[in-house]
Amino acid sequence: MVKKKTKKTRKPVKSSTWRSGKKGKPVLELKNVSKIYTMGEYKVAALDDVCIEILEGDFVAVIGPSGSGKSTLLHLMGALDRPTKGKILLDGKDIGKLDDAQLAKVRGKKIGFVFQFFQLVPSLTAQENVALPMWFQDVSYGDSIEKAKTLLESVGLAHRFDHLPNQMSGGEQQRVAIARALANDPSIILADEPTGNLDTESGAGVIETLKKLHKLGKTVIIVTHDTAVAGIPDKHISLMDGRVIGGYCPV
Ligand code: ADP
Ligand code: MG
Repeated sequence: MVKKKTKKTRKPVKSSTWRSGKKGKPVLELKNVSKIYTMGEYKVAALDDVCIEILEGDFVAVIGPSGSGKSTLLHLMGALDRPTKGKILLDGKDIGKLDDAQLAKVRGKKIGFVFQFFQLVPSLTAQENVALPMWFQDVSYGDSIEKAKTLLESVGLAHRFDHLPNQMSGGEQQRVAIARALANDPSIILADEPTGNLDTESGAGVIETLKKLHKLGKTVIIVTHDTAVAGIPDKHISLMDGRVIGGYCPV
């Protein structure tokens, strides 16, 4: 993407807005959110005055070309980063008011993240990788391992408890990562290009798993530029140059 120079005198623009169609409980609200990176004399508006409202139980695809701000949006939604401007409400609470420790606690409990490159710890087995987030929430080792087994069974990996990441296929590693995302029973699952590094068949397995989680009542948001994957959720947010340029949701 060509880096834009953001002029201080820039005219105010109407914020780009996306709202979920149905009535329901808002779980994630972005109010006039911008994320601006400063690189020397340039400022890159990775997100530019965006308003988005996600309702409980939504299944949403975020689509857009490379550099359009998809990962930035997901990181802000998942409290992995803070906006330069604007407010983010998680379950109605302004997360901008939390200090880093409080933010980490909220993130650990409410959000499950799935990344393109799995990000499993290579020296830990599948069950230890899934148990890991529970160790930060004061769950005992024994209880965490038991729960990790149940979660691995739920993603079809009962036969892989003791495997290290490099002893599993890409699709299996991503399903371990999904089980890990579920460790602390989050209500929201955020997946950034979860099939981007997988063959079509493994990718389909990962999407099936995410679909199942949505059916169980989780709010699921998937970033993708794979059109086949983008067609699966019933709601879409389309980004370009850090702004919402379209999308749809059923009415
Ligand atoms: P996408 O996920 O859609 O490919 P990103 O959210 O990663 O887009 O990036 C949006 C824009 O912000 C890009 O122009 C990217 O170069 C820029 N950007 C992202 N992260 C940083 C960073 N840490 N420092 C500077 N610029 C960044
Ligand atoms: Mg990205």
